[in-house]
Amino acid sequence: MTKSADTHCPYCALQCAMTLKSPAELTPATEPGSVPVPAAPAPDLPLLEVSGRDFPTNRGGLCRKGWTSATLLNHPGRVTEPLLKGADGIHRPIGWDQALALVTTAVKDTRAKYGADAVGVFGGGGLTNEKAYQLGKFARLALGTSRIDYNGRFCMSSAAAAGMRAFGVDRGLPFPLEDLDSASTILMLGSNVAETMPPFVQHLKGARDAGGLIIVDPRRSATAAFTSDGGGLHLQPLPGTDLTLLLGLSHVVIHEGLADQDFIDQRTSGYQAVVRSVNSFWPERVQSLTGVPAELIRETARRLADGARKGGSYILTGRGVEQHVDGTDTATAAINLSLLLGLPGSRRSGYGTLTGQGNGQGGREHGQKADQLPGYRKITDPAARAHVAGVWGVPEELIPGPGLPAVQLLKSLGKPDGVRCLFVHASNIAVASPDANSVIAGLRSLDFLVVCDFFMSETAAEADLILPVLQWAEEEGTLTNLEGRVLRRRRALQPPAGARSELWIMARLAEALEAPSTYSEDPETVFEELRLASAGGLADYSGIDYAMLDRGEAAYWPYPAGSTGTPRLFLDAFAHSDGKAVMTAVTPRRRRTPAANPDAAAKTMTLITGRLLEHYQSGAQTRRVSELLASQPEAKMQIHPAAAADMGITAGSLVSVANERGEVVCRAELSTAIRPETVFLPFHFPELESANRLTEAATDPISGMPEFKFNKVWVRLAANQ
Ligand code: SF4
Repeated sequence: MTKSADTHCPYCALQCAMTLKSPAELTPATEPGSVPVPAAPAPDLPLLEVSGRDFPTNRGGLCRKGWTSATLLNHPGRVTEPLLKGADGIHRPIGWDQALALVTTAVKDTRAKYGADAVGVFGGGGLTNEKAYQLGKFARLALGTSRIDYNGRFCMSSAAAAGMRAFGVDRGLPFPLEDLDSASTILMLGSNVAETMPPFVQHLKGARDAGGLIIVDPRRSATAAFTSDGGGLHLQPLPGTDLTLLLGLSHVVIHEGLADQDFIDQRTSGYQAVVRSVNSFWPERVQSLTGVPAELIRETARRLADGARKGGSYILTGRGVEQHVDGTDTATAAINLSLLLGLPGSRRSGYGTLTGQGNGQGGREHGQKADQLPGYRKITDPAARAHVAGVWGVPEELIPGPGLPAVQLLKSLGKPDGVRCLFVHASNIAVASPDANSVIAGLRSLDFLVVCDFFMSETAAEADLILPVLQWAEEEGTLTNLEGRVLRRRRALQPPAGARSELWIMARLAEALEAPSTYSEDPETVFEELRLASAGGLADYSGIDYAMLDRGEAAYWPYPAGSTGTPRLFLDAFAHSDGKAVMTAVTPRRRRTPAANPDAAAKTMTLITGRLLEHYQSGAQTRRVSELLASQPEAKMQIHPAAAADMGITAGSLVSVANERGEVVCRAELSTAIRPETVFLPFHFPELESANRLTEAATDPISGMPEFKFNKVWVRLAANQ
């Protein structure tokens, strides 16, 4: 008999709705409180059929990644037993009892020798809400460490910090995605949704057809090209000048009388400081700093103001403008622009940031961030600590204070006073971290590295112990999409015999470590606790339960018990105590001077990194999907033909892209879509093609965001062609 499970894609934050069909009868979810007994090995495991399901965000659409997502469930390379690295460097299977005993001993030894903060945890934005919540609790109570952070620090941290600063709360899109459909104007900065989340593009069509789609990107990306037919605009600034461009747009809004003065007076504070801060950014000066023609800057500001008066205007930001050492200020400048125009808090206009990872939104709300407790609460807030301690049933003093943000945590690996024993969940930090060579060296210097994964990722390959975990279609849980809407993930398949849920692993380890509080391995039980822990916080889930999600009810947080949730934030007030949005004056900062180019044959250029249609994040999953790998099998450095010709580079030439942190060797792809002083590398590939060998681990002082999108590199033909 064929049954089906309605669930959502395992990859990005659009969380496209899909239906999984199996020719085998589906296995019921684990009963609350029971110990899961995985099925016998299934060498003939049937493939699930994937079909897109109608849902307001994807309307039945999926991208190539979603269509092929089920092929990884029975991939021959799947890790299905705990693997221990021997002295010869080879991983060999061991039993779960031995594996858990080894981890317990490593934690106890590390704590005894160096103190509890020598144990670290690195989480991920792909974990379900339940796992993200439990991981924060496990780290702080069972391991007793403050040192937990996650890969969302590399993804959403700057936009999140800007949202907190301006609105008092951070929810990626504070409105349903469908609201974009009727917009007259959409300004999208630093996001290439046509490749990263293609079903999103249908929400841009209304503005595109009205001539109001405006894309800011140093490359003529697939999304920028989408502006062509409708009379939209593509602004192509020099990398690293987004903040200056945004100040120029605000200058025009203020000086051409386009600002919504009533809105500013009634619903914001900080206006005068912003006026002063943009005075020196008139369009002709901004043109000289950014390379964007002054007339395009004026036209963009006018279209935004015009759109706000007609069908509505939206400003959306993505990683291209946020992954900088001034990322928080850049996102703040985008929010300031939106506030000057009176967009946030309207039913037909707004500002939003496009969350990237599958549970990038929920992953940052439930306590796996170094500085936060569940409910998006500050870990330094006494009331927040008391509330969470009450839910956990422990004295408040047992909850450690703030830990280290991700980059600093990784820099501490193996150092005196640093982390000596590290847990990694849902992250491939050996490929995805800035200055990846240093991170790999840090991983190798650890006393003990345990990685939970279902594949031998580049990070797992460094591990002393690999613990095999479930994949998305084998587990129950919830995720929160880029709109702040909580969704159900449903089990459609028995997991392989040796794989276990992270909840099960944490429960067993907590028991072995004699940890205070309780650690359920049942997702719904954990969600019930999460509801209590989040109650009264910014991200309040207390009114949400599995039953209502299973009935298909839309659940946008904050959703206090007894309420109906909040699809649109800020309609009446912003989340600051006075109800007003805060405008903060920001100005561009001088960046560190990069090392001098030591190679006379190489040309210094600016590197930007990003994603391809076929791959997701570090590529640990999508590089194992044969159809995706066949389409994009390797990293290629995109370069303008004029720049390439200067160096004798032709299409397909092997090129060396290097700087003081490392070297990438890959093929060249010639394209007029990129600015002549800039090169582009995708970050999905490892080893010699790993773009993050070149990115800098300098961080934004406010959010801890590294510098991914503005790095100087030395480009030349590789010695061996
Ligand atoms: Fe999955 Fe994102 Fe593609 Fe949708 S757009 S199918 S969520 S990867």
